[in-house]
Amino acid sequence: MNQNQNSTIAQGLSIQHICKQFGDVRALADVTLEVAPGEFFTLLGPSGCGKTTLLRIIAGLELADSGRIFSGGKDISRLPAIKRQVNTVFQSYALFPHLTIFENVAFGLRSRRFPEAEIRKRVGRRLEMLDLSAMAGRRPHQLSGGQKQRVALARALVNEPDVLLLDEPMSALDARLRAQVQEDLRRLQRKLKRTFILVTHDQAEALVCSDRIAVMREGRVVQCGTPEDVYDNPRDSFVAQFLGAANLIPATRVPGGVETAFGFLALEPQPSWTTGTVAIRPEWIGIGETQPAVNGIRARVSEIVYRGTNFDLWLEPGPIRVRTSSYRRIEPGREVWLELAPKELVILEDDTR
Ligand code: ATP
Repeated sequence: MNQNQNSTIAQGLSIQHICKQFGDVRALADVTLEVAPGEFFTLLGPSGCGKTTLLRIIAGLELADSGRIFSGGKDISRLPAIKRQVNTVFQSYALFPHLTIFENVAFGLRSRRFPEAEIRKRVGRRLEMLDLSAMAGRRPHQLSGGQKQRVALARALVNEPDVLLLDEPMSALDARLRAQVQEDLRRLQRKLKRTFILVTHDQAEALVCSDRIAVMREGRVVQCGTPEDVYDNPRDSFVAQFLGAANLIPATRVPGGVETAFGFLALEPQPSWTTGTVAIRPEWIGIGETQPAVNGIRARVSEIVYRGTNFDLWLEPGPIRVRTSSYRRIEPGREVWLELAPKELVILEDDTR
């Protein structure tokens, strides 16, 4: 990479104490986040948690009530959208129906009065990168959903923004295409080394695409970390359940572990609370014929669902149903031993607001 390319690489974003209220609705309550240059950062959360509002504030399409945003060390909180080195790809793509694909992508450069040769070069490069060269002369209605999605991306990327904001850009695609575009997006981001900020409520999408994920709930960031961090060590029940399936077990601390509806479970380390919750992902539970040395639970298979790659099993060891995952079929009615190994049990720090 030469010096010139280096100087155009994305600058970090610092989002500090952002609050936003719409009438009675508190959309954002003191959100602070640092996004590193060239990072693929995802805002993940259920509908209404404030992720789009935060994205719009970063884009300059909405003003925060309080708090500040810095880009590359510069305060951009009051900078109009047009002056920010930020481009947004919206859910709806918002392509111009009467313009060809080439002209849709060229639009931003034309309005900034780039010379024709430079427009041809830049648009051509982006169309090629996104495998759209053969479609340059078509109009949006002649493209599939996935192709339109890629045009929207090309149109945003042609402006070479420091930060690309993606507002649920894959929500209109079917499952197979969605998986494809997620991989493409990840690859593209790695290649361009720009900062991407994705908004989604799809945990699988967040896990696939991101360097780091901020899990949001009711206008706050509940947890922020790498996909492995948030999946393996969820902070509370909300994060544990939002990022995939989790067995939540109410527990009371006793010497060496916790007392639960299944009896004593050894734990390492000890929880800081007296009563709380421990969690374990279905796929982390061992299933066997013999009693494990620690944390064994005798259980009966009550339900089985075939998933293609594995079977989901529900077992009834007593008052709580446990969900596990198995590569082989185990018929309902069979009794097995479950192993909830101490290192697989996560101690949750639920907010008791
Ligand atoms: P979704 O996934 O459904 O798009 P979201 O997490 O992006 O949800 P936001 O769109 O940021 O959530 O909305 C956060 C809260 O603020 C919601 O309760 C929403 O109803 C409210 N809200 C957002 N925009 C406005 C507005 N312009 N006027 C009034 N309330 C708004």
